[in-house]
Order: sequence, then structure tokens, then C-alpha cells
Amino acid sequence: MHDPTSDDPEGMTIRERSQHSGPAPAGTASAGRSGLGAEEPLVDRLGRGLDDLRISVIDRCNYRCTFCMPADRDYQFLPREELLTFEEIARLAGLFVGLGVHKIRLTGGEPLLRKDLPALVEMLASIDGVEDLALTTNGVLLERMAEPLAAAGLRRVTVSLESLRDDRYGAINGVGHPVAPILRGIEAAQRAGLEPVKVNVVVQRGVNDDEVVDLARELGRRRCVVRFIEFMDVGTLNDWGEAKVLSAREIVQRVAAELPLTPRARRRASDTALRHEYLGGTPDGPPAGLEVGAIASITEPFCGDCTRARLTSEGALHTCLFSHAGLDLKAPLRGGATDAQIERLIADRWRRRADRYSEERAERMASGSRVAEPKIEMYRIGG
Ligand code: SF4
Repeated sequence: MHDPTSDDPEGMTIRERSQHSGPAPAGTASAGRSGLGAEEPLVDRLGRGLDDLRISVIDRCNYRCTFCMPADRDYQFLPREELLTFEEIARLAGLFVGLGVHKIRLTGGEPLLRKDLPALVEMLASIDGVEDLALTTNGVLLERMAEPLAAAGLRRVTVSLESLRDDRYGAINGVGHPVAPILRGIEAAQRAGLEPVKVNVVVQRGVNDDEVVDLARELGRRRCVVRFIEFMDVGTLNDWGEAKVLSAREIVQRVAAELPLTPRARRRASDTALRHEYLGGTPDGPPAGLEVGAIASITEPFCGDCTRARLTSEGALHTCLFSHAGLDLKAPLRGGATDAQIERLIADRWRRRADRYSEERAERMASGSRVAEPKIEMYRIGG
């Protein structure tokens, strides 16, 4: 769950360009904190910068995962005209980059359901200052989309996969989809150069925790970097309970008992995973040096390092995965606001940010308090 900037290739800062009303040409935004002045670093109330942006491109999904969009409910999806257009997304992304963002990840819903997604990837990849452009997918459509996405400028892909067993995987994804197409999608991504492919595995005790070692072994053998994720209380639909959480430490212990590991240092303060690498030497196992991680968002929350903003498919800015109230950027965007005005809205919101939901949850758990807070659903905010 989070550098440097450079000059505008056209020699025009966001501040200068913002004197012009209406959208900037997609993909031409200036990098750097130019809009606020270099002397004025953008940090929130807890001193955290704005480095990463997750953009949800659609709220629909072709799965009904038990921990996100359970199949036994009805969902109201946004009408097409409520979704941000590619031009609107690219314009906002350029403004975020101008405020310090250098990593962008596309999410959903299921992002590969958004028509012509490579066109958006191309627009985002051309923004000066975007150093990392990634996408998270359930992998259903990845086999045919990997190559065009890579050709458009996508750098990395993360696939979600909770089980290697068809019956269990089909039950978790809610629509009976088998595992093999997902593995073929991963192979297609590797062939397209989107390596290393990361695989996110949400671990639920009593659901798939008995597969932790199998998943590590098989996906590691396939050169995938696996990220095991503690089962979280995202949204309100997943029937979360502490008893279903297998701690990241225990996950790592289970893997290490079968596949020897050594810890890796964190690359950046905002790295969210307990990172290890395999020592190798296991027949048919992961190669030496391949990374494997576990994300301890419940047992060891990392809000203090959280530098991530989220943009929903309808154009709301959320400053925490667990927030319920977003800042509407679509209205000013469609109402003719200048870049400078929108940039100011984003910066003001970030400066007022004090989110630390996971740390507060940990404090509530420690004190035995059970106060439920309103939260946005994961398929809306993009995980
Ligand atoms: S709970 Fe919110 S503030 Fe804390 S790490 Fe997660 S997204 Fe960031």
C-alpha cells in the first residue's frame, strides 16, 4: 500500500500555463513542484509529501471477489458520462506530477475493462516527470492486453491472485473464473517486458492461508515477485474480522520454513512491504535473489510513510484508502477552472491531510474499541 523532478519540455511551468484557462494539452504537463514554488514543499499535516497517485479508471469489475464486491449484492455503477475522460485524467495527472507525484498506478474496478486503455497509458507515459507507470489487474484480460499496454509505455503490472486451485479461486472471485488464464496473462506480461510481474495475494485465515507456501513456490518459480497482503477492513462489504488476519510476520515465517529467505532493506521510507529475497537452492522453487514481500497494514501500519493520493474514476481525490469523503475535482475541471485553480485545490487538500486510518485502527484494536467508521468501497477507490 507508496524524486526528482525535471523541466517542462516546452519550457513552460504549470504556473505559467495555468494563466491559460481550459485544458492543457495532454501529456505536456511540467514536472516538479513548480506550481507552488521550489521553496514551498508540499507536505501534509504529518510532514508527508505527495509522491504516488493511484488512478481508478473504471468502477466496474468482471469479478465479484468476496473481499471487495461480494456477488450477493447489487451495485450501481457510474454512467459513462460521469467517468473522467482520458483527457481529463491526463490533465489532472499532469497537475499532480507538478506537485511532486512521480509514480502513477492505474486501478479500477478492473482497469482493463476501460475501453482503449493503451491510449490513456500513452498519454500518461508522455508526461515529463512520470518515472513509474504501473497497473493493477485481476489478469482476466491481460493475455491480450499486455503487449499493447507495454507498447504504449506501461512499465509494470501487478496481478491479483488469491489461489492456485480452480475451485477455491472461482469461489473467491465470485464468478467461477479459473486460474490458468491468469497465469497465461502473467506470461504474456513477462513476454511483453513488464518484468518483474508482481502478484498480490490477499491472505485470509481459513480461506487461503494454507496455500501461502504453494503460492510462493509456484509464482516464485515463474519469476513473479509475490506480495502477500494482510486481510484488511477496506470498504464495508468484506465481513472483516481480526480472526481472519494472518500476520505478515507469520506469512514470512511460513514461507521461510520451506523456502529459505533473507531480509532486504527498504528502498524508500514509503515502501510498504516487509521485503525478503529467496536464497534459492530449492528444487523447482524460486531462484536466488528473487524478492518476496508481505504487507503488514493491519499488524504494523505504515501511515507515517504514506505519500499516496487516490483519484476515483468519477474524479474525486481521496487522501487515504479508508476515507469516505473525497474532494470533487471533476466539477471544477468541467466548470472551466484553470490549471492553477485546480492545482491549488489539490495542494490545499494535501496540506490539510492528517489521515492515519490504519494506525488508528491498531490503536482501537489495542484498546478493544469497535467504533465503525463510514468508508468508501474498494471498487470505487481502487484498492
Ligand atoms: S490507512 Fe490511509 S494513511 Fe494509512 S497507509 Fe493506508 S492509505 Fe495511507
